This record gives sequence, C-alpha cells and structure tokens, in this order.
Amino acid sequence: MNKKYAVFTMDVEAFADTECLSRAGMEFEQDMLDGLDAYMEILDRHGIKATMFSVCRTALQAKDRILNHLRKGHELALHSYDHRPLCQLTDEEFRSQTKMAKDLLSETFGTEISGYRAPCFGIDDSKLQILRELGFDYDSSHLGFSFARHTMPVGFHGFEQLRKGILRCKDFFEFGLTQDRLFGHDYPISGGGYVRLFNWGIIKAIIKDYILKNDYYVFYLHPFELSKQPIPYLPKLKLYDQYYLNHGIRSYHKKVEWIIQILSRAGYEFVTFKELVQHMKNA
Ligand SMILES: [Zn+2]
Repeated sequence: MNKKYAVFTMDVEAFADTECLSRAGMEFEQDMLDGLDAYMEILDRHGIKATMFSVCRTALQAKDRILNHLRKGHELALHSYDHRPLCQLTDEEFRSQTKMAKDLLSETFGTEISGYRAPCFGIDDSKLQILRELGFDYDSSHLGFSFARHTMPVGFHGFEQLRKGILRCKDFFEFGLTQDRLFGHDYPISGGGYVRLFNWGIIKAIIKDYILKNDYYVFYLHPFELSKQPIPYLPKLKLYDQYYLNHGIRSYHKKVEWIIQILSRAGYEFVTFKELVQHMKNA
C-alpha cells in the first residue's frame, strides 16, 4: 500500500481577482486577505504545512503577511503574475511574465519558487513545457472539470501516471486537483466553490469514500472564502455569481476541519507540494 499524502493549498489572490468580479471589471478596496490568516490559523493548530500559490503582485503587496507564514514553514509558490487567464496570453507573454514573477518572489522572500498554479486552473501542454524550461519542479493546475471557465485542452504528452491525480515527466510533476465521479461526471472535491456550494451531505459522503479508497488528496481555497469581512452586496452581478460569492461562507471553516479529521483518521501525511516532489522522487 502506498503512503497517503494530503496537500492543503490556498490560491492567494485579492478579492477583485475572483473570476466573476474581474470578468465584470469590478475593483475593490478590501483584499480579503485576512482569510489567508484564518486558513493558516486552522492549519497551524493541526501542525499542517501548506502551499500558498500567490499571485505575484498580491504577494508583493502583502509581504509581511506572507513572510509571517513562510517563517512557520509553509511554502510559497506562484499563482501567475497578475491572474490573467493563460488562454489570453501568448506563449512568449506567459514565459516572460512567469519568469519575472518567479525571480521577483524568489528575491523578495528569499525562497525558491518551484511550483505553479494557473489562474482558473487553465493550462495547456506548451505552457507546461515553458514551466519546465523556467526551472519549476511542479504544476498544480489540472482540475479535469470541463464545465469550468478558461480551461484549455491539455494532453500531458510524455507524462506517466504515478497514482490517481499525480503525473510525472522526468523530474517535473503535475499534481492535479482531486475529483471523483458525481452523477456520471468527474467533479472536483478539492475545495473552492465546488465543496462550498454543493449539497454538503452528498459531498461529505463522496469525499469520505474517496479518501478511504485513494492515497492522494488536494484541498484549495481562496482568501475571501474564510475572510471575516462581509462580502459586499453586488446587485449588478448575475444571481449565480452572487450565490457563488456568498453561499456557505460562514460555515466553510467547519468543513475544512472535518476534512482534516477524516484525512488524519485515514492515515494521510500532510505535506507541502515541495515536500511531495521529494517523496515522489524517492518512491
Ligand atoms: Zn486564482
């Protein structure tokens, strides 16, 4: 039996970078980054080290906050330069922005930036190749949910599957987001709106069953999903987008605690992705 690994992550981005808000061109004073601290408070209490995928400009604006979590042993990785979906960038724009962001974060925070997650989980084969050429060790963008916005066709040519959700191409890894079958479709059970918005009784049963039968689980959140600040009333947004921003926010911390407990009971080891790269290389 393989050793079981769980990775807790956060996509550290300002509230205005939330897909439905940036699509509507909305700007906000509040960044909701207190939700990062709230998440880390839960994880620190359980002795869990997390991977923070941060938008470059957000990390630079919230330098002290990020440094505080880095000092406690959490990992910093890149969630793009400015959160523009990659389908809107040429390969050369992607290469130069990503190199600049990787170098800026490494210098500013004194830590190697070895991981990447694409905005809205949209990546393709040529962008993956660029990440490898820029010296990244891993990507964690594959959601596998065809209904999500900004996804791109990706074939993972040259990759071999190590276990469900983990692919390897030489020394480079793809750590996919966890998904399972729901009503005949692959559905992400790895956090964000997918876990928050759907019927919790059903999601709970699926997550529990998945965790018992598998050996790799990834969880992710955005800061606004745990922020103590009220979500602004935005009547101009479509009803679904208002629902996305508000539903289940107040109780999300309890779901995070429940998932941690289930993983612990099932014997999962909590690691950062940087640590998981080493475990997979040594396996
Ligand atoms: Zn994002």
